[in-house]
Amino acid sequence: MPTSTSTSGSLFMVSAPSGAGKSSLVNGLLKLEPRLKLSISFTTRPPRPGEENGREYHFISADEFLQRKNRGEFLEFAEVHGNYYGTSKVLIQEAMQAGTDILLEIDWQGAQQVKKQFSYVASIFILPPSIEALEERLNKRGQDSKEVITRRILAAGGEMAHAPEFEYVIINQDFDLALSELSAIVKATRCRTSQQTVRNTALFAQLGIQINTTF
Ligand code: GDP
Ligand code: ADP
Ligand code: 5GP
Repeated sequence: MPTSTSTSGSLFMVSAPSGAGKSSLVNGLLKLEPRLKLSISFTTRPPRPGEENGREYHFISADEFLQRKNRGEFLEFAEVHGNYYGTSKVLIQEAMQAGTDILLEIDWQGAQQVKKQFSYVASIFILPPSIEALEERLNKRGQDSKEVITRRILAAGGEMAHAPEFEYVIINQDFDLALSELSAIVKATRCRTSQQTVRNTALFAQLGIQINTTF
């Protein structure tokens, strides 16, 4: 797999319990950071009203998911709330080698798998201001059945227990503040010395700066 010392693209992962505001924040971030590309996952979950195949997810059957998994096509995959979700390996490899910054919207299980494969990944966990707010947001979003919402609320505690494994935590109370924090993390990550030296090798040479390759 590529690592941050051999490619010029940065890798970001965002996780959250369902309803914390992850997708809304990520959509806001993509508008602020047009150079950042969202990885579109494969899932066996049925599309919600308004979701389009290839936009929010590649919606596939359990059979196709299994075949792709057996062919080793996933960078990571996990079962979340009774459905399978996975990230395409080849798309991430190609994008990162081309110097594109990639954002993964994945659960904590997938985040653990991805962390092991790269020398550096900026990992961000989004928390709701309270469990009550989480419940209210899931109900207000109104896109899942009562049964699905209950299942997701019951899973939230177990998911949030993994927040300390992430490098950054954002509390999504005030949406605009949370979005500016997310954007700041992206900007800071792009300024990491390891990224700057790969992206601007010629400038470092011109300025007579010796690059120490062991970061
Ligand atoms: P949301 O929680 O309301 O955004 O609902 P989704 O159905 O879109 O996502 C369900 C869960 O699956 C979330 O925890 C996502 O982060 C996670 N997820 C989505 N895509 C992937 C993926 O490619 N890999 C992994 N591991 N998890 C994913
Ligand atoms: P997730 O992708 O984490 O499941 P969404 O982005 O779909 O969450 O957000 C869940 C619901 O909460 C949406 O209806 C969204 O508009 C709303 N929401 C997101 N952030 C906030 C916030 N800071 N305050 C109030 N409502 C929010
Ligand atoms: P939803 O069904 O509400 O879109 O997503 C539910 C959960 O699945 C979210 O926590 C989301 O982050 C996670 N998820 C979505 N895509 C992937 C993926 O490709 N891999 C993993 N591991 N989790 C995913």
